[in-house]
Amino acid sequence: MRQRNKPWADEFIQENEQLIIPNPKEFKGKWKELFNNENPIHIEVGTGKGQFIIGMAKQYPEVNFIGIELAKSVMVSAAQKVIKSEQSNILLLNVNAEDLREMFAPDEVEGIYLNFSDPWPKNRHEKRRLTYRSFLEQYKEILVPSGILQFKTDNRGLFEYSLVSFSNFDMKLQEVNLDLHAIDDPENVMTEYEEKFSSKGQVIYRCRAIF
Ligand code: SAM
Repeated sequence: MRQRNKPWADEFIQENEQLIIPNPKEFKGKWKELFNNENPIHIEVGTGKGQFIIGMAKQYPEVNFIGIELAKSVMVSAAQKVIKSEQSNILLLNVNAEDLREMFAPDEVEGIYLNFSDPWPKNRHEKRRLTYRSFLEQYKEILVPSGILQFKTDNRGLFEYSLVSFSNFDMKLQEVNLDLHAIDDPENVMTEYEEKFSSKGQVIYRCRAIF
């Protein structure tokens, strides 16, 4: 996601440490304590500017959402929107999702969302794709057995790759939708990228799978 460099981002992140948790490894196994309730934890990997997670948090007030976003300047945009939304069921982590097992205990998470993940089309970058098997290994460990991994993208190549990756990992597909916007799903919460690409007429793919 392109975003102008924001020199004040570090300061903003430090000032908002109640929302953008600076030391997430300390809360492994204790996220519900931080939210101060027993509601299930769902995470979004690659949150971008936060539209999806805020929409989900409004739609499902009895779920705690944690947004994980690597890019500092993008995270700041998400945080500003979360603050404006006044949703108390969202926390944000400005970290790389490659270390999720250090931040979440086994079975601590009940849902995982991947939205319009970077496609990394070159073979030599396969390991960076968020549906590569090393990421699936992490998701499997932190997700409860019945927990759903939901993946949306406009990128056909990444979608095809991910279905094969899920299958090679013995995941069970619950849904494969090749044109999400052709059905009327009132529960679908659009992301920034989803709005942008679908307004240009691009098809949106969605897959739901369990381990
Ligand atoms: N999900 C948003 C949407 O649908 O509008 C943003 C999509 S954008 C193409 C992908 C985002 O994932 C970028 O903001 C990028 O910084 C983030 N990202 C990519 N790899 C990541 C990783 N390993 N850990 C955390 N965030 C990551």
